[in-house]
Amino acid sequence: MTDAFDLSYDVVVVGYGFAGGAAAIAAADAGARVLLTEKMPNPGGISITAGGGIRAASNADAAFAYLQATNDGRTDEACLRSIANGMAETPAIIRELAKINGAEMVVRDYPGNYPYPGYDALQMIDITSVPNFDPATGYPHARGLKGGPNVFKIVEDNVNARDQIDVWLSSPAEKLIRDGEGRVCGVSIHHEGKFVRVQATGGVILASGGFENAPDLQQQFWQLRPVLSAAAPGNTGDGLRMAMSAGADLWHMWHFHGSYGFRHPDPALPNAAIRMKRMPDWRPSAEGAPGSEEKAVPMCWIVVDRKGQRYMNEYPPYLQDTGHREIDAVLQ
Ligand SMILES: Cc1cc2nc3c(=O)[nH]c(=O)nc-3n(C[C@H](O)[C@H](O)[C@H](O)COP(=O)(O)OP(=O)(O)OC[C@H]3O[C@@H](n4cnc5c(N)ncnc54)[C@H](O)[C@@H]3O)c2cc1C
Repeated sequence: MTDAFDLSYDVVVVGYGFAGGAAAIAAADAGARVLLTEKMPNPGGISITAGGGIRAASNADAAFAYLQATNDGRTDEACLRSIANGMAETPAIIRELAKINGAEMVVRDYPGNYPYPGYDALQMIDITSVPNFDPATGYPHARGLKGGPNVFKIVEDNVNARDQIDVWLSSPAEKLIRDGEGRVCGVSIHHEGKFVRVQATGGVILASGGFENAPDLQQQFWQLRPVLSAAAPGNTGDGLRMAMSAGADLWHMWHFHGSYGFRHPDPALPNAAIRMKRMPDWRPSAEGAPGSEEKAVPMCWIVVDRKGQRYMNEYPPYLQDTGHREIDAVLQ
């Protein structure tokens, strides 16, 4: 460690949601000493509000074909191959992690949302229960769905069981530190009232979520606005800003998962929204394809413009995650 640093770790992970927790566990299991730093007083981010359905695949090649079709050339094949292989390995990984607290998991066939090649090899893992754990009392700060807290409980128990991982809460990372050749060698973190310069000899992992609470970034990257958040207040694009100031190139900024809904009536929550109650996903028919299904329930509302005219399909196949797209095209 040089004088320029106050502390040294092998790896620093920024953000303690699913991604940050999993990265810290993997780094520790590879022999690293890890600092996992979280900006908010509680860990969990958006992860702890989620449904907790973990995508997996019964066949890596089929998953690769599906990812190729749905990414449509925007993601390089080595990356897609790695994700597809990972999806086939995921049930075994989760089964191992779940031993920490005896959580019960179910792997079920759950075809992809669109009938592209390989969609029928996709699966879903649910953590159905964790012994002696109730999300409402275990994570009272997160009032989301049940599945996300169950998965996060597995992550958190695994983090806590590893002595090589130190966890800091209420400690936002603020800036990447680079050496004379421009390489990232540490990160400055606001911790217990002062800025601490932490060396990361093996790298800094930015797992600090998206920019659902950063209207300025949304304005630069998206056409549609306003886009209001129904989830984690700490996700203000800090990781993106840090990466950009270290010269990172960005990709996939045009797309976000979301739907339509209402502005939250509480003036203390100016960027918050309430989304429409989730409608079941449905899959457009593919001739002869197993698992095809048309709309699962009748639609019970329409969306109209200021003149009272209906202008969009209110119930696309994956409403909860793509419902905003037609509004994007019409409102501009
Ligand atoms: C209602 C809902 C249901 C969902 N259901 C599913 C589902 O069933 N299956 C699925 O796969 N996905 C689902 N998702 C999406 C999924 O939850 C997210 O993609 C995933 O949780 C993102 O994890 P993450 O670790 O990247 O981010 P997060 O969980 O948001 O974690 C990021 C963390 O970084 C912290 N942070 C931010 N800035 C800093 C900083 N400067 N320093 C330190 N920490 C910082 C944040 O406070 C936060 O805790 C759902 C999402 C929602 C909202």
